[in-house]
Amino acid sequence: MPANPHTAPSPQAHQAENRAIEALYADVVRRNRGETEFHQAVHEVLETLAPVLARRPELADARIVERVCEPERQLMFRVPWTDDAGAIHVNRGFRVEFSSALGPYKGGLRFHPSVDLGIVKFLGFEQIFKNALTGLSIGGGKGGSDFDPKGRSDAEIMRFCQSFMTELYRHIGEHTDVPAGDIGVGGREIGYLFGQYKRITNRHESGVLTGKGLGWGGARVRTEATGYGCVLFTEEMLRARGESLDGCRVVVSGSGNVAVYAIEKAQQLGATVLTCSDSSGYVVDEKGIDLDLLKEVKEVRRGRIAEYAELRGAHVRFVAAGAEGSSVWSVPCDVALPCATQNELTETDAVALVRGGVKAVAEGANMPTTPEAVRVFQEAGVAFGPGKAANAGGVATSALEMQQNASRDSWTFARTEERLAGIMRHIHESCATTAERYGRPGNYVVGANIAGFELVADAMLAQGLV
Ligand code: GLU
Repeated sequence: MPANPHTAPSPQAHQAENRAIEALYADVVRRNRGETEFHQAVHEVLETLAPVLARRPELADARIVERVCEPERQLMFRVPWTDDAGAIHVNRGFRVEFSSALGPYKGGLRFHPSVDLGIVKFLGFEQIFKNALTGLSIGGGKGGSDFDPKGRSDAEIMRFCQSFMTELYRHIGEHTDVPAGDIGVGGREIGYLFGQYKRITNRHESGVLTGKGLGWGGARVRTEATGYGCVLFTEEMLRARGESLDGCRVVVSGSGNVAVYAIEKAQQLGATVLTCSDSSGYVVDEKGIDLDLLKEVKEVRRGRIAEYAELRGAHVRFVAAGAEGSSVWSVPCDVALPCATQNELTETDAVALVRGGVKAVAEGANMPTTPEAVRVFQEAGVAFGPGKAANAGGVATSALEMQQNASRDSWTFARTEERLAGIMRHIHESCATTAERYGRPGNYVVGANIAGFELVADAMLAQGLV
């Protein structure tokens, strides 16, 4: 595999381990043909692991890396449903139960036309290490469907969710596998999924799904948690360099749940957020994004970002996707938070951001930065927080929701937010100290991969060959 000079060890170091890892990666590619995002996610972790295997030969002996790259179980199923006109549609449903070494499989469901097995496996693989980093007892999994919710009525969404759960219910449970939301799956969808699970099983099993409504087992801060956590992680990275978000110009991509609450927390910490985007384009608001208006447009009306520009006033620039300069990353800033989707920030974008003076980048989305772009940031000395660490606040707060469900308790917003802040500080600390322990200070990619991997690997060793 092509070595990344900033994450891979020097050519002389750990030669045997590097060769073993290369062979292993080639095997993953061969056995999971065409699953490019999965290959990318595996490559990005594996290329940082040679020094771990060199220090800890027992992990190589137990073939931990091979085992962690192979999902414990992969489910694919038919999801038939009827639209409002009575026409029949058939979608494909997925749940990849990747690792239960640390706890029940845990991870979201994504409803988006791009979803296929490779996408679900990349997300599930990332989720293993992300969940480990939270320090809470959750394994890794992911699921979803190639269903496109765009333009669908509430009744259609409900029928789809019911059909999806009619198959999924037999595979999940509070101690087995606990799905939640991701792109295209929010509070509304979790409600319909939970209702159908309850109906089929005749159990009000709160802990089977997270991201529930506050009145029926949901946790405060869960909605805000991924975005808030991403900004708290950014603040920690800046603090480690003697800086802070106060007064920073921030560029955010996306306008879904992660982006909205990243904007909210960045503004609370004194930053000016200039942008947000959706698949139709992006807006630049030099006065700072008006969050109430953004929430109204995206969450209430489920509208497009151009509407924000129209309603906000003449000073706002809307740039349509595909137009000249149509990358949100061409806007100069101090901090960039990619909060939309995978591989949205390319090498060209990274070069533009570095030229514009960016100091820190944190991934609110899963794998939004291409490997080439990560390299540009690391070479330029930009603090780069990978999603496994930076966006772990969402799933961490899901684990807090599970705790509350198990004890039939409900915590205040302040108490939950304090826990979230503590968890994000802990993740930053463990990434930073692990990177240092492996001679790569400031490299959060190395820190996150190794810290997450070691936790999972130790549990796998202890639990024997299963
Ligand atoms: N989909 C979110 C993630 O990528 C959250 C998963 C969860 O809460 O289980 O981490």
